Amino acid sequence: MSHRVTLLPGDGIGPEVTAAMKMCVEAAGVKIDWEVCEAGETSIAKYGKPLTNEVLDSIRRNKTAIKGPITTPVGKGFRSVNVQLRQSLDLFACVRPCLYYEGTKTPIKNVNLMIFRENTEDLYAGIEFDLNTPEVTRLRTLINEMSLKKIKEDSAISIKPISVSASKRIVKFAFEWAVHMGRKKVTAVHKANIMKFSDGLFLRCAQEVAQAYADKVEFSDCIVDNMCMQLVQHTHLYDCLVLPNLYGDIVSDLCAGLIGGLGIAPGANYGDDIALFEPVHGSAPKYAGKNKVNPTATILSAVWMLHHLKEEAAATRLDNAVRAVLKEGKDVTYDLKADRNDPSAVGTMQMAEAICKKM
Ligand code: NAD
Repeated sequence: MSHRVTLLPGDGIGPEVTAAMKMCVEAAGVKIDWEVCEAGETSIAKYGKPLTNEVLDSIRRNKTAIKGPITTPVGKGFRSVNVQLRQSLDLFACVRPCLYYEGTKTPIKNVNLMIFRENTEDLYAGIEFDLNTPEVTRLRTLINEMSLKKIKEDSAISIKPISVSASKRIVKFAFEWAVHMGRKKVTAVHKANIMKFSDGLFLRCAQEVAQAYADKVEFSDCIVDNMCMQLVQHTHLYDCLVLPNLYGDIVSDLCAGLIGGLGIAPGANYGDDIALFEPVHGSAPKYAGKNKVNPTATILSAVWMLHHLKEEAAATRLDNAVRAVLKEGKDVTYDLKADRNDPSAVGTMQMAEAICKKM
């Protein structure tokens, strides 16, 4: 059976890693009719904006999409296309598996963590008021009237909304996956000691949802700063983590470091009936067009996409091929070599070809 999937090559290294991924999916024996769409810098050049309705319609129609990373200007310019995609399509659950693959350079062996990040609200809501604007002055005046704490005149303000509905939805999603995957424990990560209302609400929602699963899956919670230390020192005490948006983003990169780096960390965003797969890493513009970076994160994102498309045999075939190439450690990119300047490191496409040969 052929599947129709929206493909967004993205910016920077995106076109290279998605081309490598496409080759591997085809070698795994799955027929995909790719609907290629532009988003990010190429979309701005052609259509004057980074995300068009045509792209959203394509994903809504096909229900499955995979993308390369998309650049977001830092501290100025347009808002993140990645965040817009997640919010516009209500892809509320970001799932980031952090699994150990033999042959990778990791500080700890056998890491086996699932990260569930809330994707639609928190400081990512995009509700911000810039310095010296009439809006920030109005908001500051209002807050200064209502609160014992005062906001300085030379401030910008970002709002952090956390809702009962979104918190319960992501925690329920994490528990459902934990049950389905036979996992033993879910840990809710927060900073409820300081943000007693927003993070406190997230924690209370997590505790409430956890009760319904008490006979199947253990529940614990952890303050985010302590969580970072625990993940480095006592990784194996943890199993599934569920986090609000910002902590989920930061802890994902920490966990990518535990499994050998961003080059091998896959991800997926799920809504009720749409799924969008993407690597955890960004567009790494300094490596764009150099056939240098590791395609594994995007290829493993495609493994999760194949599971989603119920192509279980092909998913296992592709995962095993990646596993074999990583274990051999020969045809791998620079980031997987013991010495990053090792001249035997291969390029993006050569690593993908080596993976194809193992299938
Ligand atoms: P980045 O992930 O692009 O790169 C950070 C570093 O990680 C790189 O310099 C490189 O050393 C390493 N790295 C990343 N991908 C790699 C790969 N495939 N193989 C080997 N090494 C790899 O993060 P950044 O520099 O903070 O962000 C660059 C741009 O990407 C920004 O515009 C940011 O907004 C965007 N971004 C997009 C997404 C997304 O599309 N979902 C995610 C994160 C960042």
